[in-house]
Amino acid sequence: MSLVFIISAPSGSGKSTLVNEIKRLVSQLDFSVSYTTRHPRGSEENGRDYYYTSRDVFERMIRNGEFLEHADVFGNYYGTAKKFLDDAIVRGHDLLLDIDVQGASQLQRRLPEAVSIFILPPTRQELENRLRRRSSAERMTDEAIIKRRLETATREIEKYEKYDYILVNDRLEDSIDALRAIILTERLRASDREPSRADELKLAELAQAKKLENVRPHLGPVLESFRKSTV
Ligand code: ADP
Ligand code: 5GP
Repeated sequence: MSLVFIISAPSGSGKSTLVNEIKRLVSQLDFSVSYTTRHPRGSEENGRDYYYTSRDVFERMIRNGEFLEHADVFGNYYGTAKKFLDDAIVRGHDLLLDIDVQGASQLQRRLPEAVSIFILPPTRQELENRLRRRSSAERMTDEAIIKRRLETATREIEKYEKYDYILVNDRLEDSIDALRAIILTERLRASDREPSRADELKLAELAQAKKLENVRPHLGPVLESFRKSTV
């Protein structure tokens, strides 16, 4: 049976960067390309980053029951088409979904066995820096958008307890290692095997350290940096 990995993060935390690295490092893992009504950003491409559609087409797909989940994020629709899961199952691959907290909660009800991972920035200030760096690289700095993303992040971050694993994306290399360890360890568990080889034990230990219950005691400073801020 295919495993489904759900990854959520406040916009700007580094989720796309991490997911792109994982694409290179983990085999037999499919990535769902979401549908969205937002416009392409920077060097994004239709069919690779998203399928960009009109609201009319998106609403017709909702009526036809083509989505596994969908949500309104920042005033645009985003949705995961059912066909990605069906195709992954046929191929015997696992599936990774990059979706927001609303979509994740719909999917957790629908697929309770899915493995969920929440990515957090180290602090609110660092999230703001990343959002600003990205938008200036794309020559699209819009203060209203940055402010809105930071406000949304403050709300989304409070949902962290709904996820199985928490990754605070501080050093990128560490986060890549941890995400890979989570995926490989969950695969091992799904195949009913205990980690036995040295490399498997190391991965299992790394994954275990990112379980919600093990990360929770260290999250105080991250959460405080958002709660203190008035944006
Ligand atoms: P998201 O997909 O979560 O919206 P991105 O992957 O686009 O975020 O990352 C936002 C910005 O932060 C990008 O400019 C990216 O290069 C940068 N970034 C990602 N991870 C890190 C990290 N660990 N440390 C510093 N900068 C990072
Ligand atoms: P962005 O516009 O920055 O690419 O994405 C904005 C938000 O929409 C991110 O939190 C991203 O995870 C989320 N998102 C992307 N695709 C989907 C999807 O198919 N469903 C849902 N619910 N959220 C999505």
